[in-house]
Order: sequence, then structure tokens, then C-alpha cells
Amino acid sequence: MREHTEVQGLAALGGDEGFELSLADGSIRARNVVIATGPFQLPRIPALAHEVPRSVMQLDPTRYRRPEALPEGAVLVVGSGASGTQIADELLRAGRRVYLSVSRHRRVPRRFRGKDAYWWFEALGRFAQTIDTFPERQYPPSTVVTGVNGGYDVDVRKLAAAGAKVIGRVTGASAGELGVQANANQILDEAGQAYASFVAAARDFITRCGEDGLTEADPGEPEPLPGVQEVDSLSLRVEGITTIIWATGYAYDYGWVRIPVFDARGRPAQQRGVTAVPGLYFLGLHWMHTFKSGLLSGVGADAEFLADRMSRGRQE
Ligand SMILES: Cc1cc2nc3c(=O)[nH]c(=O)nc-3n(C[C@H](O)[C@H](O)[C@H](O)COP(=O)(O)OP(=O)(O)OC[C@H]3O[C@@H](n4cnc5c(N)ncnc54)[C@H](O)[C@@H]3O)c2cc1C
Repeated sequence: MREHTEVQGLAALGGDEGFELSLADGSIRARNVVIATGPFQLPRIPALAHEVPRSVMQLDPTRYRRPEALPEGAVLVVGSGASGTQIADELLRAGRRVYLSVSRHRRVPRRFRGKDAYWWFEALGRFAQTIDTFPERQYPPSTVVTGVNGGYDVDVRKLAAAGAKVIGRVTGASAGELGVQANANQILDEAGQAYASFVAAARDFITRCGEDGLTEADPGEPEPLPGVQEVDSLSLRVEGITTIIWATGYAYDYGWVRIPVFDARGRPAQQRGVTAVPGLYFLGLHWMHTFKSGLLSGVGADAEFLADRMSRGRQE
């Protein structure tokens, strides 16, 4: 175990010699390497950010700290995954004027019948569903949940009701004006359908398996919230937007891996963590094998699979 030691390079030695890992003060040779450097390495910011006037402060969730740290004026949050929705919520609660550009996402109840969403993911078999069951291994959009204040249901339409101006996807920027796709309601409807199907599956589970351990009554159907006003452009100056937070997801950073095991988009080419290069593995990637693979509770099962694979390789 070597703490505080960055691996600056990884190369294959050829044949069955294994790998060499370069460090600032030497190197390590290894027969097997598991790259477990995390699922969220670099903020992924769209190229159109370069076209935004310099007078507007731009940052990403890794650099966002608190509402008071932002300049006065309205804030545009781009992206409605877990980071974007939580930051927009916090800004609204702090009295800031907020614009939220939505992206495809799924909603679930944080709790249903007294059980947490993660309990239901397990019970409904959603944690067990593998990436191979999706056409072309295309996993679904991210599920938004929060643990803030003990956890609550994240719903962009509630943010709109609380004063956020919700708009569709930002598609371009020119002379201080953003192009916007008029697809906000379509995205919010899709998120709502995910919520409804989750609740329907939970109710079906209860019908089949009984109510044992469920502490709360069924809340019934939620009050429908109105749609949002679509726009096809947004003037940063007219709306007084002084900050843009790009909560547009994360990319991998494997510049130090000098082995060709990546697809055209720079993602590890792997199946359940196993690559085409013998002895080289990945672990902890988003949707690597299941939805749980990129979550704290899921890494154990994937690690066990790889450990088993490695020990079998040694015996062969
Ligand atoms: C905002 C946010 C909220 C989240 N909330 C939840 C949640 O509520 N529940 C949940 O289960 N999961 C959550 N996750 C996901 C969770 O953080 C990850 O699944 C988990 O941290 C993955 O663990 P890991 O060990 O694979 O990677 P990480 O925890 O990212 O650890 C990777 C380590 O590798 C190190 N490293 C990187 N490159 C090198 C190198 N070249 N040499 C040496 N070391 C290197 C990094 O410094 C880091 O210490 C959240 C993630 C984010 C970003």
C-alpha cells in the first residue's frame, strides 16, 4: 500500500511480462492492474462555453461551493442530473434568480411506503439489471436523488413552481445569446414517466410479496404540476445572468494509460471490467456492469468478480 502516490504512466511490457507503472520516484511492475480511479474524473463542459462573453462567470460543480460565492445577478444552471438539480435548489432557497436548462433524467421517490429508493432498487431487481440487457449497451439517463436535509423527491417542476425559470437544452451561444431547444416539457414528462413506472413497479411488488416491513401508507397520486414555458433563445444580458454553472456531467481522464484499451469516445473498452489486454482491468465505472457499479454499494460485487477472474488466470 502506497498512499499519496500518483501513477503517472502505465505501459504494457509485452509478452506475459505484465505492466510497468511509473511514479514520480521510480516504478512498480505488476502482473495484473486494476484501474479504479473513479467514475467522475473531469467535468465535461460543452465547447459552446467558449462562445459565452468573458463578463459571465463560468464554473462547474467541482468548483461550486455556496450561493454567496457567486457574483450578484441571475444564475443559469445547465444540466438537470443530481448536481444541477441540487445546486439549482440551493440557489433558489438562497433567494437567487435561477434559470435551469434541463437534460434527460429519471425521477424516483426518495422514499416510498417508508422504504428508501435504494431499498426499492434492490427489491425491484433494478440493481441486478446488467448493461448487456440494453440495446447497444446504452444505459438510461441518470436518476436524480438527494440526501440533503434527510433526502426528498427531486422534481424540476417543483423548482419551477418555486420560481426557477426552466428551459430546454442549450444548443449554442453567440454574442451573449444562447440558443435553446424547446424540449423542456418533453424532458420533464419523460422524468415523470420514470417516476410513475417506479411507483407502479413498487405497488406491483407489494401486491405479490405483501406489506411486511412497510411503515407508511401509499401516498396516492401526486398533484399534477403545470408545464413550463418553452423558449428558443435566452439573452444573458437581458435576463441579467452573471454566472453559468455547467452541471453537464463528467468525462474520464486516462491520459496516463499508454495502452490502447479505449473506444472512440475515450471510454474503457471493457466487459464487466475485463479488457482485451490480459491482466488489465477496470473497476468502479459508471454502469460498468450494473447501475450499482458506479455506486459505493456496488463496487464489492464487481471487485469479487475480477478477483475471481485473476485467481483463475493464475491457476491456468
Ligand atoms: C457529487 C457526487 C455524489 C455522489 N453520491 C453518491 C451516493 O450518494 N451514493 C453512492 O453510492 N455513490 C455516490 N457517488 C458515487 C461515488 O462517489 C463513487 O461511486 C465512488 O466514489 C467510486 O469509488 P472509487 O473508489 O471507484 O473511485 P473514487 O472514490 O473516485 O476514488 C478514485 C481514487 O483514485 C485516485 N486516482 C486517480 N487517478 C490516479 C492516479 N493516476 N494515480 C493514483 N491515484 C489516482 C483518486 O485520487 C481517488 O482517490 C457520488 C459521486 C459524486 C461525484
